[in-house]
Amino acid sequence: MKIGMKEEIETVDLSVDKRVLCEFRSNNGPLVVFMCGIHGNEPMSVLAIKEIAEFIQDNNIQLAGSMIGITGNIEALNKGERYIECDLNRIWTEVNMNFISNGSTLRNEKAEMKEIWSVLSKVLDERKKEDVVIFDLHTTSSPSVPFITINDTISNRCISKEYPLATVFGIEEYLSGPLLSYMNELGISAIGFEGGQHIDLGSFENHKAFIWLSLANQGLISADMLEVKAAFKRLNELSIDAHKFFEITHREEILDSDYFKMYDGFSNFQSIEKNVKMAIKNGIEIKSEWEDHIFMPLYQEKGDDAFFIIRRIPPFFLWLSRILRKYNFERIVLLLPGVSLYDKKKHILAVNNKVVKILRNDLFHLLGFRQKVHYTSSTTLYIRREVQ
Ligand SMILES: [Zn+2]
Repeated sequence: MKIGMKEEIETVDLSVDKRVLCEFRSNNGPLVVFMCGIHGNEPMSVLAIKEIAEFIQDNNIQLAGSMIGITGNIEALNKGERYIECDLNRIWTEVNMNFISNGSTLRNEKAEMKEIWSVLSKVLDERKKEDVVIFDLHTTSSPSVPFITINDTISNRCISKEYPLATVFGIEEYLSGPLLSYMNELGISAIGFEGGQHIDLGSFENHKAFIWLSLANQGLISADMLEVKAAFKRLNELSIDAHKFFEITHREEILDSDYFKMYDGFSNFQSIEKNVKMAIKNGIEIKSEWEDHIFMPLYQEKGDDAFFIIRRIPPFFLWLSRILRKYNFERIVLLLPGVSLYDKKKHILAVNNKVVKILRNDLFHLLGFRQKVHYTSSTTLYIRREVQ
């Protein structure tokens, strides 16, 4: 299958039936996993991995490691819908893992999850955690430059800084059950890539570029290959904020009962001034309270994130957090009143909400913790992102 830039995207066959899109195995070297189309309205990564796998096979390229491409939501991809019953990228929790393994009859996303996990767990069992990297490939509803999202662990940062792209931390703090967070909690490096708008040939090319670069960065192919050089050039030219790190400071949530419409003209990473009219929610106009950057404005029907606000993290703080984590500075925080160890094995802190108000999330972020989505009225739980 080859897609030429002149062809209309409508003429391309987007149907998919295989869970394993491609598999190249080697006994040595790292294992690189590409998760494609976990959202059914995002088929560009599926097409990209198929084309690259064909190229590798046709040109008999020997990989210095293993590569596997896994399809996400097959049923939703074939219907062109984000999901059928529930978002497949919001259900990776321990409760659901127990549910899918207890023998119940499963349907829709839970059945897809079980199949994905059976492929993933099998290949993960064969490798040391530190030899595995998972890349989760996505697209966005609005036009966007390509960028990376990660949970802020030092190992994820080391991988993401090799790309000429902006990296955004902290999205998982606002989401329940994304695949990447589940993998990180297992101690596996996992990086999210957003390649551009959903049905767009540019996103298809961006995904191919990201896959080539990932294979080179992980040492499976030579960085001197023409495809890798072209990939770097493409992403570098597209990215305005290459090598910069951002963190999310606000999420505008939408409930099922809300009527929400984003005004036209907003795009990812766009600077935003205070008082700019942004959207309508339940008949009330939302005006900007921020002087920062807008992130992932919602221009599709399904989804419960209206938009996010992000701010750039100065390099000094990136350095400081690396040092604090290296020397386990969290031990000092544990001496403070209102901070206790909630779960030693999982590195979860329980922090009194009065103390949270004083210390703020920023300190815990510096130390490599993220706020758990669920917490009680008097206590906030923070879980350490790095598994040691
Ligand atoms: Zn997605």
